[in-house]
Amino acid sequence: MERRALRAAAGARLVKIVVEDLGVTIHAAYSADYDRLYLVIPGEFCSCPSYLFDVFLRRAADKCVHLEAFELASNVREVRVSYEEFRKRIYPLLFRGLL
Ligand SMILES: [Zn+2]
Repeated sequence: MERRALRAAAGARLVKIVVEDLGVTIHAAYSADYDRLYLVIPGEFCSCPSYLFDVFLRRAADKCVHLEAFELASNVREVRVSYEEFRKRIYPLLFRGLL
């Protein structure tokens, strides 16, 4: 897939997760099949494989499509959860995104 198309597809899967009890916002991107979440620190880091290999290890790119998509995104879907919901539903998806 062309990079622009990849970026657009990634853009649709971005999400801001507000953990209400903690007062923190976590930026993340769902994988293509929605079975995991990549943790994104906009402008800095993404837990996806492309970031690890292409950006961090090979230095072949500046950013992965998720970091690019966050730069371009004007309104990212926001999800508000309690810490309990975060721990049960979101954290396992983020954890899988790190594997
Ligand atoms: Zn990424």
